[in-house]
Amino acid sequence: MPCKAYSAIVLKQGRILVIKKDSASDDSIWFLEVDSPFVREQRKLLGTEVVAWSKGVRGNAEKPIVISGPSGVGKGTLITMLMKEFPSMFGFSVSHTTRSPRCMEKNGVHYHFTEKNVMEKEINDGKFLEFASVHGNLYGTSIESVEVVTDSGKRCILDIDVQGARSVKASSLDAMFIFVCPPSMKELEDRLRARGTETEEQIQKRLRNAEAEIRAGKSSGIFGHILYNDNLEECYKSLKDLLGINDDAPVNGLEVEGINLPKEHTATKMEDKILIQETGEATKNNMIVLDLSSINGGAPGRTRGIGLDTVNSS
Ligand code: ADP
Ligand code: 5GP
Repeated sequence: MPCKAYSAIVLKQGRILVIKKDSASDDSIWFLEVDSPFVREQRKLLGTEVVAWSKGVRGNAEKPIVISGPSGVGKGTLITMLMKEFPSMFGFSVSHTTRSPRCMEKNGVHYHFTEKNVMEKEINDGKFLEFASVHGNLYGTSIESVEVVTDSGKRCILDIDVQGARSVKASSLDAMFIFVCPPSMKELEDRLRARGTETEEQIQKRLRNAEAEIRAGKSSGIFGHILYNDNLEECYKSLKDLLGINDDAPVNGLEVEGINLPKEHTATKMEDKILIQETGEATKNNMIVLDLSSINGGAPGRTRGIGLDTVNSS
């Protein structure tokens, strides 16, 4: 049904394609989900009618990487090494937390530091992919934090605890799960102390939680890969092997392109393809074909994998 500013086309799988006319290339294609798996789940959860928007983008994202392990095992160190060596390939999902910043930590870089009531409201508003209470504070991954990284064409890394990993595993996000183990509890304690960022009481709390985390990490069936961080360089090499990064790896991440559509057009559906025809007298033979046969993802994140072809029918 074309109207002045939008075209709307009913698709399979409970979604409606909405094309915005005269919009920026990164804002032209949207999917209104009326009966997708996410919408059905939310409907049940909230006990009310639900619809959800998902922005359509070209290109497919590589699977995000979830890294878990007890506090002090070296997750942050390994992630920093990876991002330093491959800055255009990996991006870090910046979590929200209610804990106080450590002296070198920057808001928006290491965490989004926030208040408990603010974060709880955002969780209720459905803005979080997962959240958990860890060592007495609330931590969580917002959907936007993952999308910001993926939209920049990078593979997203999430440093989250085992409860968070369990939630991600149950969500629509298809991820790779890695658990990092310490060589011993004594070594874990030494590392936590040497880091010098926690009080004695906090160190004790983290060590108490570590045993249960390691047990859950090894036995829960969540993690497809377990790394032992004894020697740092060796563990880092194992991580790179796991991620399939070797000397021949491309240095750039995936390319992300916008979708430039003509300002005035008509849109017609033909099976999995949408024909978008310019309506100006001089340009009416110009046509863009959106191929929706391989779309994936969707609310609560982006809908990816839209194919694009330009045709001149004259
Ligand atoms: P996490 O992010 O898992 O809490 P960190 O990356 O902050 O842990 O590491 C905790 C401390 O242990 C840091 O001071 C770090 O330099 C140190 N560390 C990390 N890996 C090793 C290792 N393999 N051997 C010795 N020290 C390590
Ligand atoms: P720290 O306070 O040392 O930065 O982190 C403590 C623990 O919280 C770590 O195990 C870390 O993986 C976990 N964590 C950090 N961010 C998140 C998050 O967004 N979600 C969850 N579930 N855990 C997180």
